[in-house]
Amino acid sequence: MSALLTKKQSSAPSANISRRAVLKFSSYMCALLALPASAVAAMAERLAAAPRQPVIWLSFQECTGCTESLARSFAPTLESLIFEFISLDYHHTLQAASGEAAERARDEAIAANRGKFILVVDGAVSTKDGGLYSTIAGVANLDMLRMIAKDAKAIVAVGTCASFGGIAGAAPNPTGAVGVEEIVSDKPLINISGCPPIPEAIAGVLAHLAAFGKPPELDRHKRPVAFFPATVHQRCYRRTFYRRDLFARSFDDEGARKGYCLYYLGCKGLVTRSVCATTKWNGGTSFPIQSGHGCIGCTEPGFWDQGGIYQSSEGHRSKRRRDR
Ligand code: SF4
Ligand code: SF4
Repeated sequence: MSALLTKKQSSAPSANISRRAVLKFSSYMCALLALPASAVAAMAERLAAAPRQPVIWLSFQECTGCTESLARSFAPTLESLIFEFISLDYHHTLQAASGEAAERARDEAIAANRGKFILVVDGAVSTKDGGLYSTIAGVANLDMLRMIAKDAKAIVAVGTCASFGGIAGAAPNPTGAVGVEEIVSDKPLINISGCPPIPEAIAGVLAHLAAFGKPPELDRHKRPVAFFPATVHQRCYRRTFYRRDLFARSFDDEGARKGYCLYYLGCKGLVTRSVCATTKWNGGTSFPIQSGHGCIGCTEPGFWDQGGIYQSSEGHRSKRRRDR
């Protein structure tokens, strides 16, 4: 089942796509990753020449939103090209195989790529009672993660559940759900938080790992700085209203109709790092604040318990006092 979802892993992508397409993809990725122009040629050369990067994708306590974000990104160029550069050897949701054949093929893919594959995880890891609340083929996610992570080159935690526990880890957290970094500490780990994460961030990190063999620059939460460079507030187009104390106070008042700041409707953009306001969603069409809903803070540790969606938390209020 090598290359379960893509072309044969042994062949380089250049056999299937034009040099121009590789260059275009590399330019886009390097721009997203805030890499210098000189990195474009290096990325294109390595992606075109190297065999596809083997990827094993494990889905634990999740809702499939993270997979949907990448696979249905409404950016056909992005999703089709990233799948040209990786060999997605195992993914529950996307693969055709099932049952014992799927599990056997995953083990074969791991055995053939020890120390070389990237392990992607979406969903939180259940730890309570030995992790028995979430299993795959009778194996607890907790045990599977430990078993497979030891052979991985690097781990990418996709989504806030895999990064920090997310919704599965919200109080009262009945399954003892935690993020990957609570379990594995001896491998390079990249957290791409977000519920779900922006697809460009997933593709950018995978492209960087495939081309350069190492993670991009990370912040203190192990998130790629390029995709978490500033708060949503710092780049929000409604900030001009915030500064002038012009706020919507309900979703159907005059302020809401005029597009005023959503702070008093619970917007958590002041304390939430993401490129939502600039990269946006659905191929750059829009993002929640643009459609009239405040930021819910989904990329931060502690999401979902840092205050209700429509209320500001104490940390949020003190940030506002500082950030006048
Ligand atoms: Fe679903 Fe959000 Fe968790 Fe991803 S981070 S698995 S979208 S709940
Ligand atoms: Fe934008 Fe929210 Fe900041 Fe208001 S509080 S400017 S809506 S990010």
